[in-house]
Amino acid sequence: MIATSLDVSCARALTPGCERVIHFNNAGCGLMPQPVLDTVLEHTRLEAMMGSYEAAAKKVEAVNAVYTSFGKLLNCRADEIALTDGATQSWHRAFHAVPLKQGDRVLTANNEYNSNWLSLRRRCDQVGATLEVVPGDANGLIDIGALRAMLDVRVKLVAITQITNSNGKVNPVEEVGAALKGSNAIYLLDACQAVGQMPVDVQRIGCDLLSGAGRKFLRGPRGTGFMHVRRETLEKLDPMFIDIHSAKWTGLNTFEWKTDAKRFEVMEHNIADRLGMGAAVDHALSWGLDAIQERILGLSTLLRQRLNDVPGVQVRDQGSRPSGINTFTMEGRDLNAVMLKLRADGINTSVTNFDWAWLDLKERGIDSIMRASLSYYNTEEEVERFVEAIARV
Ligand SMILES: *Cc1c(COP(=O)(O)O)cnc(C)c1O
Repeated sequence: MIATSLDVSCARALTPGCERVIHFNNAGCGLMPQPVLDTVLEHTRLEAMMGSYEAAAKKVEAVNAVYTSFGKLLNCRADEIALTDGATQSWHRAFHAVPLKQGDRVLTANNEYNSNWLSLRRRCDQVGATLEVVPGDANGLIDIGALRAMLDVRVKLVAITQITNSNGKVNPVEEVGAALKGSNAIYLLDACQAVGQMPVDVQRIGCDLLSGAGRKFLRGPRGTGFMHVRRETLEKLDPMFIDIHSAKWTGLNTFEWKTDAKRFEVMEHNIADRLGMGAAVDHALSWGLDAIQERILGLSTLLRQRLNDVPGVQVRDQGSRPSGINTFTMEGRDLNAVMLKLRADGINTSVTNFDWAWLDLKERGIDSIMRASLSYYNTEEEVERFVEAIARV
């Protein structure tokens, strides 16, 4: 057994799904804990019984508390948080608000998330900016020396991903923040796979903008997301959308933006899910993110050690900064078929193919990769059963 300060049996008792499946797909979507499920169902029922707008009016304080919870989770003010319907939505709201013009330079890293890369590519082409990838160091992590050498006044945006979906390595995001201090580049961080599995502190990181999803390691409902917008950065940004929620109509031809990060929201959203995401944040905070990270890293180390002993299996996570995302290949096996076979046996994993992760998999010469992503409610016994199932394939 791995030493842990976290009460794993209690975490499992509060996770109805872990009775039925070995869930190693927490980077896709975590299993909702009971308090999240209860929150979503209760509000959905209330909407059916009394009318959705009327139900919302009863929950104003509870919705406000979701922003406060995110402020605690990310170490920022509640009014620096905007809530959205997913991480892609958050990232795009942030990215398209950053002013870019011809001749500007945009920097990213070699593990940038697929959809982010497509948007960076398209918009740089549209405005005539250049898109440059900061090289990786010996561990494949963003090379801070190389980043410093690339910085000049034309660099207007540095957009990087802390942990991507196909590779467990964790970029040194605080060192990136330190390198950018004093530059005029806006720092946009995709922390979608980090929030919920480790402490993520926007003050220590020094990012201007951060995006994430509710459903992954945080264990909230699907279709939920959040973003952080640093107070001092707000006025440098020009949001892509405007509606009667994000701005006030002050005269027939005039308007004023909301004074806080809510200017990045739109009016319509699923309140039950948003309350559920808040319950997920509170649930994570009740365990503590340090304890969660320690537990996940312990289980992941065990998993990688065991997988390394299986003939034909190659663990592919590089370097010195691992996470709860563990990736491997299996010689001569169709990984999609393996994933489906495991699923039929009650073991959830996922597979990332080349066309989802060009940057990352091309560099490593891999066509497709299997991902086992662990949460703190997973157990040593589940790891052993998983590795036995892989060995049997
Ligand atoms: C999953 C993921 C996203 C997209 O999140 P959605 O909520 O599906 O939009 C963005 N970035 C990273 C690194 C991801 O893993």
